[in-house]
Amino acid sequence: MESVLVTGGAGFLGSHLCDRLVERGKYVICLDNFFTGSKQNILHLMGHPRFELIRHDIVHPIHLEVSEIYNLACPASPVAYQYNPIKTIKTSTVGMVNLLGLAKRCQAKVLQASTSEVYGDPEVHPQVEEYWGHVNPIGPRSCYDEGKRIAESLCMNYHEAHQVPIRIVRIFNTYGPRMDPNDGRVVSNFINQALRGQPLTIYGDGTQTRSFCYIDDLIDGFLKMMAQDETSGPINLGNPVENSMFELAESVLQIVKSKSQLEFRPLPTDDPKKRCPDITKAKTLLNWEPQVSLHEGLTKTIAYYQDLMNQETS
Ligand code: NAD
Ligand code: UDP
Repeated sequence: MESVLVTGGAGFLGSHLCDRLVERGKYVICLDNFFTGSKQNILHLMGHPRFELIRHDIVHPIHLEVSEIYNLACPASPVAYQYNPIKTIKTSTVGMVNLLGLAKRCQAKVLQASTSEVYGDPEVHPQVEEYWGHVNPIGPRSCYDEGKRIAESLCMNYHEAHQVPIRIVRIFNTYGPRMDPNDGRVVSNFINQALRGQPLTIYGDGTQTRSFCYIDDLIDGFLKMMAQDETSGPINLGNPVENSMFELAESVLQIVKSKSQLEFRPLPTDDPKKRCPDITKAKTLLNWEPQVSLHEGLTKTIAYYQDLMNQETS
């Protein structure tokens, strides 16, 4: 049976992807170094006859036989990727070379989890794939942004030089169950603060925007991108509905029915002021667009964190 490799498979996106691939009858090899991932995310898959877990760091080569590779290995939260910036860069560069070498040997397809961060603090709005971005190459986010830009370049070069089949998706902010409650991203922070009656921490004045995509929609996009042979991408995957952080805080407070206050904190360096995907390509080439509204997705995510809190206290 042909195997599918999911690197970063014990993380937030990776664990949902493993679920969906196993459901579809695939044999899934989940590879993770557990930097930000957790066994808890994949516990329910352990022992499944079509699921295998390997503890490994992609910065080191690995010899496997696979037909598809989803490369999700890389910390995604700014707090996590800035913890050890050199390691973050190595993961997206040395790690990427290792996986492309593996793909070349096995003639496997590679889906690379790139990011809206390649657009930096964008001057083109909404962001189209043709936009080259506005990234500070020496700022605190550069280990992630520039690493992902090099990873895209490596993918295209292996495609040109060695005909490795590539699919690049540029993922915009995604949220849902299994996001680490302590990873510092805005959705997990706001919900956990609201559930605990703590003030919601708004960085800057809260007018900066993001576009939030629910996890199930994103995974649909991954599967559609891998299944088609028309394009290597890059293709934006994200929800085109844009919200300010202030609006996000209000939605969370309203759904949780929380009376938490807002607490304003300094805006981190190089924090993008706005971000919204143009998803025309995903619509036309993949017949994909998000189905889950922010209200519905937040309601499901809040229920997940509420359950976690109940387990902590019981
Ligand atoms: P996550 O931190 O939950 O998952 C990343 C996983 O990769 C973790 O399980 C971590 O332990 C593992 N990992 C990190 N470095 C590794 C290494 N060197 N070797 C092996 N495993 C390693 O983050 P996520 O939100 O699930 O993001 C998954 C991917 O999607 C990342 O590549 C990220 O850049 C990309 N992405 C995510 C978002 C988002 O909003 N969630 C947005 C844009 C891009
Ligand atoms: N943010 C915030 N409060 C928090 C965490 C983040 O206001 O407790 C802001 C952050 O400054 C950014 C936005 O929310 O403008 C999204 O941050 P996140 O870390 O989730 O993702 P990214 O910056 O990578 O888009």
